[in-house]
Amino acid sequence: MKILKLCHVCDRIIGEIELDDLTSNNAAPIMDIVGNVAYTLCPSCLQEMEIKPGIVYQ
Ligand SMILES: [Zn+2]
Repeated sequence: MKILKLCHVCDRIIGEIELDDLTSNNAAPIMDIVGNVAYTLCPSCLQEMEIKPGIVYQ
């Protein structure tokens, strides 16, 4: 089963991932899975988070 990876911040579609990959190999910083959508951070937003720590996001 494939799930869609979306950026949590900018809603950009990052790609698709096999759900099996998530459970067996959690290298990606997946934060939340809703239905068949996995919310994570795209590389640029991840970089912004590191540059500006202390941002409160939900
Ligand atoms: Zn993003």
